[in-house]
Amino acid sequence: MTLTTLQDLADSLHDCQRCKLAKLGRSQVVFGVGNPHASIMFVGEAPGFNEDQKGEPFVGAAGKLLNDLLASAGLSRDHIYIANVIKCRPPNNRDPEQDEVDTCKPFLLQQIQLIKPKLVCTLGNWATQTLLERKVGITKVKAQAFYMKDFVLFPLLHPAAALHQGNLLVTLKEDFKKLKEFLDRHSKPVEPTSAAPTPAAPVLTIESPQPAQMDLFG
Ligand code: URA
Repeated sequence: MTLTTLQDLADSLHDCQRCKLAKLGRSQVVFGVGNPHASIMFVGEAPGFNEDQKGEPFVGAAGKLLNDLLASAGLSRDHIYIANVIKCRPPNNRDPEQDEVDTCKPFLLQQIQLIKPKLVCTLGNWATQTLLERKVGITKVKAQAFYMKDFVLFPLLHPAAALHQGNLLVTLKEDFKKLKEFLDRHSKPVEPTSAAPTPAAPVLTIESPQPAQMDLFG
């Protein structure tokens, strides 16, 4: 079945029973929220308690920090789309298991195909390794642009890591500065119009691939 809209895809997952998480205490599938035409997408790991209750990604403490970090890069939730690799909360917020990632990854890829973001910012190891398709530590690849086939990947530390380890907050803030610099280098200014008086999402103009980057993986 070809699902042609994000809403079709969301509807098709509404009562998903494809993996064991459906029976391990999730309240609902947390599909994703935001601008369906966003040129920037953020991808986290999996819903936690608050996300499972509300049905939206990043609404707990990590989400509040993410909002502040987005603002520091000149972004808001209206500009972006946010989803997770895993759409259902793992029990006690444990790490996702490989079979759960394997089951849910195709839906993340379909979301990306439908939204067509130019830039995908992965938050933490799980999202980064899932989209880079390499088992590489986040500290080695964070805050750098990787030119993938259909989008640029920009890995960042997970905000929850900075909540647990205060020293990482400084690093995360610096990395969002690097994200802002990247956006500034690759964005066309958007003129506010009377029809759209609020600031519009940045129009990204990312083109050139940089194959030399693959050296990073050694
Ligand atoms: N952590 C995530 O990775 N995703 C969420 O939605 C919330 C916390």
